[in-house]
Amino acid sequence: MRKKIVAGNWKMNTTLQEGVALANDLKNALAGKKVNCDVVVCTPFISVAAVADAVKGSVIGVGAEDCSANDKGAFTGEVSASMVASTGAKYVILGHSERRQYHGENNALLIKKLQLALANGLTPIFCVGEMKEERESDTFKSVIEGQMAALYTLSADDFAKCVIAYEPVWAIGTGLTATSEQAQEVHAFIRASIAAKYNKQVAENTSILYGGSCKGSNAPELFAQPDIDGGLIGGAALKADTFMPIIEAFK
Ligand code: PEP
Repeated sequence: MRKKIVAGNWKMNTTLQEGVALANDLKNALAGKKVNCDVVVCTPFISVAAVADAVKGSVIGVGAEDCSANDKGAFTGEVSASMVASTGAKYVILGHSERRQYHGENNALLIKKLQLALANGLTPIFCVGEMKEERESDTFKSVIEGQMAALYTLSADDFAKCVIAYEPVWAIGTGLTATSEQAQEVHAFIRASIAAKYNKQVAENTSILYGGSCKGSNAPELFAQPDIDGGLIGGAALKADTFMPIIEAFK
């Protein structure tokens, strides 16, 4: 059975102290509760180690928001997958639309990042999703298929270690959520594409998260869709009070 996952993406928010406080708030909010999904927080690099330390012994998994496409060496300012893993983090977001948009990340680069993340035991949360114009021109499926091609360079065994997040760019941070029907349609399309590339079992075992203005009010309907296995959450992950209802959408 594939995993249900609610993952936070803090983006470039929270100082070190604020990040640790947020992690502790979440840890306290979850304490003693029956949680029906995996809970992950992906934090800015500067907080990953401290947050991993703060949530030790809790159900919360920790990740980074990116990693370098290089293994080590003279790459000033970059953080490698092995450095991320050395903090105790288990996840890394790759190919977020903000990285694709503002840093020109493409499949060639993302394939290197995927390989390094996997070689260092990290679970990639690999983001795909179309821009507004691509939705409007009805080309979104080919755009998503093109982004999935980076994952399709992996062996079935390595692919099985990845989580996918479908994040329509027009819904990220805009307050515009894909309807549950729109999201389900794309999730089912992605799953069918995985089945065609690998096989039905690999497709059935892959967790596909939805991201884009997901909140406590719309999470239950989104997560009730047969191919939506949880969420990648931006804004609503920045407070335990707004993140918890999304986690609790899995009853
Ligand atoms: C994201 O950036 O991954 C995201 C889904 O953001 P938001 O929830 O704020 O739309």
